[in-house]
Amino acid sequence: MRTFLRGLKRCAILSRVQILEEFVLSNNNNRVWLFREGKKELKDLLGGKGANLAEMTNIGLPVPPGFTVTTEVCTEYYASGKKLPDGLMDDVKKAVADVEQAIGKKFGDTQNPLLFSVRSGAKFSLPGMMDTVLNLGLNDDAITGLINASGGNARFAYDSYRRFIMMFSDITLKADYPGLSKEGFERILTDHKAKLGKEADTELTGDEWKALCDTYKVFFKEQTGRDFPSDPYEQLETSITAVFRSWNNERAIIYRNKEKISHSIGTAVNVQSMVFGNLGDDSGSGVMFTRNAATGENVIYGEYLPNAQGEDVVAGVRTPLEIAELERDNKTIYDELITNAKRLEDHYKDMQDIEFTIEKNKLFILQCRSGKRTGTAAIRIAVEMVNEGFITKEKAVAMVAPSGLEQALHPRLKNTAAGKVIAKGLNAGPGGAVGKAVFSSDKAAEMGKGGAGEAVILCSQETTPDDLKGMLAAQGVLTSRGGRTSHAALVARQFGIPTICGCSDMKTDGHHATSFSTPDGTIVKEGDWITIDGTEGIVYLGALEVEPAGQSGDFGTLMGWADEFRTMGVRANADTPDQAAEAIALGAEGIGLCRTEHMFLEEDRLPIVRRMILADNEEQRQGALDELLPIQREDFVGIFRAMDGKPVTVRLIDPPLHEFLPNQIELAKEVAVEQSQGKSDAAKIKLLNKVNELHEQNPMLGLRGCRLSIVFPGIVEMQVAAIVGAAAQVTKEGKTVLPEIMIPLVGHINELTYVKNDLERVAKATQGKEGTEVPYMFGTMIEVPRAALTSAEIAQEAAFFSFGTNDLTQMTYGMSRDDAGPFLMPYIAKEIYKEDPTVSIDTTGVGRLMQISVDDARSVNPNIKLGICGEHGGDPDSVKFCNKLGLNYVSCSPKRVPVARLAAAQAALEAKGS
Ligand code: PEP
Ligand code: MG
Repeated sequence: MRTFLRGLKRCAILSRVQILEEFVLSNNNNRVWLFREGKKELKDLLGGKGANLAEMTNIGLPVPPGFTVTTEVCTEYYASGKKLPDGLMDDVKKAVADVEQAIGKKFGDTQNPLLFSVRSGAKFSLPGMMDTVLNLGLNDDAITGLINASGGNARFAYDSYRRFIMMFSDITLKADYPGLSKEGFERILTDHKAKLGKEADTELTGDEWKALCDTYKVFFKEQTGRDFPSDPYEQLETSITAVFRSWNNERAIIYRNKEKISHSIGTAVNVQSMVFGNLGDDSGSGVMFTRNAATGENVIYGEYLPNAQGEDVVAGVRTPLEIAELERDNKTIYDELITNAKRLEDHYKDMQDIEFTIEKNKLFILQCRSGKRTGTAAIRIAVEMVNEGFITKEKAVAMVAPSGLEQALHPRLKNTAAGKVIAKGLNAGPGGAVGKAVFSSDKAAEMGKGGAGEAVILCSQETTPDDLKGMLAAQGVLTSRGGRTSHAALVARQFGIPTICGCSDMKTDGHHATSFSTPDGTIVKEGDWITIDGTEGIVYLGALEVEPAGQSGDFGTLMGWADEFRTMGVRANADTPDQAAEAIALGAEGIGLCRTEHMFLEEDRLPIVRRMILADNEEQRQGALDELLPIQREDFVGIFRAMDGKPVTVRLIDPPLHEFLPNQIELAKEVAVEQSQGKSDAAKIKLLNKVNELHEQNPMLGLRGCRLSIVFPGIVEMQVAAIVGAAAQVTKEGKTVLPEIMIPLVGHINELTYVKNDLERVAKATQGKEGTEVPYMFGTMIEVPRAALTSAEIAQEAAFFSFGTNDLTQMTYGMSRDDAGPFLMPYIAKEIYKEDPTVSIDTTGVGRLMQISVDDARSVNPNIKLGICGEHGGDPDSVKFCNKLGLNYVSCSPKRVPVARLAAAQAALEAKGS
């Protein structure tokens, strides 16, 4: 009992200490935080990297000391017209003094100088998108100290110095002096080596590197008219500013747009004492994942380079060694690394991506973060961590990004045995991809997705963050250099782009290549078809066939857990029996939208539909409808059979009739040409007249939806006869059919009442004729703002509502679904809209209308069934919003059904607070 009480007391004291700590932390208005002052929860303020450096420092890992300038300073920097706040450098100086004391070195010292790395670090990782400066603090005095400290290693010291001059100039001053680019310095290095008759960097002596530093400094003065800055604090201030500036460089903005990261959160700057992986063979740098990031297998996965700085591994300039080589070369350090890695995985309860450096046989951990992984790996890791007793099922469901599931359903190559293998490389991003070879990011963007829409494979020496645009436009990426942790590989995995890296079989002419050759003599030129297998790392000549991916056992397990937790239903938008079958296989619990007009567009029906539209009189029109009836009925029979026991929402015809007729301009041209040749086709002229008659200035707001049902009731009467007839037939076969007949584009209760009364009559008559009762129901779509606002009236006539958020968004914003393209992208880039409302529900506007509609509908009709069938139904954020609204189900394209199931489960868990 006493022990118990003592325990309680200790808890109370502990929690008081914690509260005090929280208080101190939350009241720490510092703009500069020493690593030991932070913790992992402070990502908003310290950025992801800074918060993790703090956490690792505090749990006792070997982290080189340093400090973080907060994201708030970045916001201040922009708010004050790109100026660092007054007094910031005084705070920085205090922090530097603390680090100096911690490691017994002095910034700019001539004996044992402290050097810093200066790195960006936002709340969310933007790998490689922002700037970094290394070896900061070097000048002509400190260099002697560095030589001393490295045991007289002038070669190493001047190599570091020349890297610093180049990096500092390129990163911090290129914007004002374009000549100071990395390429400019690389050219000087190439000339220098040529004059010396040397090829590899490793052949250069200390004196030769020193001579290069002198040439660099002369070049700097030529470009800028002043000396290279030797004051370490000036270097530091300029570099901190440069990192803040890089928050808004083009590639960072593209990345944030793609990843839906807010542009206003800013980046922190991490200033960390340098450790050197290039001090000799007892040094090195590497990157490792605690589990395989491509497959999820529970094995260490990583790469390292002996005698190299970390940048060499990440930049993909040298192809690194497998981490297993480190075990062979230095077992003690390897074991220490693995122990620390496992400790971090255990601490964070997630797979970790760790950067490390070995300096003269001493291990340092430079960074850890939750490792990026493929969708397949995410599923396997989550499931295995539950099986290992490491995390709960809830945590597993919460930790897999719904969008990652789409990656898990990646396409695979078919019949690879028949393909001609021309090269092999590292399997960096899984999946098969086929496309025409292109050799620059610009070309990929021009020809590929978002450009001309062709399938392209981006082939290059390596990719840099500037290539993001081209990578996203390509079906796949193939690089001759770089490892599985290179930029290309990270980006590829994140976006699910099949990718092969480090393909040394592929020989190119550097950055301006227009072709590549392979060992068997094959030459692939721009525009030639190639196929890459990113799962196996194999390049094939020509275009192989691709098949959609299947699901692993882990996928089923995770989905099963998701279904245990989710409370909202998931249906699919499906128009054919095949799509219905695919949707069921992926876990759909019904069809939430069957667009019947898609059935009208099929080759055998279109002529009949056109005859119906062109009919001169009612008799002709009815004749065409009578022909369509059995065909439509067969369509529904197929779908009802596939969906046995599951509800099917069939939407009656929605688009304007001219969509079923030829294009007005093309047809007018044809008729004009024929007439100029003295020909006259009476049928064509009649067709043109009808097309002209049905032409609308704004068809999206014209004669469509229920308006069409009121003006031309014959079409929907035929459809209802087909639906109820098919339902009766399939019911007689012993299956359960649950048809929900949906009337689109209602904006006024009278529209619904009018159409419903007419169709109720047809449904009853059809039941009578079939001699079988069918549990059909009538409902409507909420797509017009007026319908949302008058839901209390409409819900009295409807058994269900389905939010058609495509139209509802269009009409709420007053922007055309077809014409918004040219302004939506600039709007998003300028943050006028934070997100594309056609992708994710605009919760404050469209969402508010939905909320009003839900509340009003339920107040008059508590049993009304509520769902969504716009494209938003498969968007994870929108699914979560629908869960909050309390909808009964979401409906989306079959392929996105698993995504919606997982998002719905996560929403339910979030709502429960677990
Ligand atoms: C909608 O408007 O959201 C909808 C599902 O209908 P459609 O996209 O066919 O207009
Ligand atoms: Mg619609």
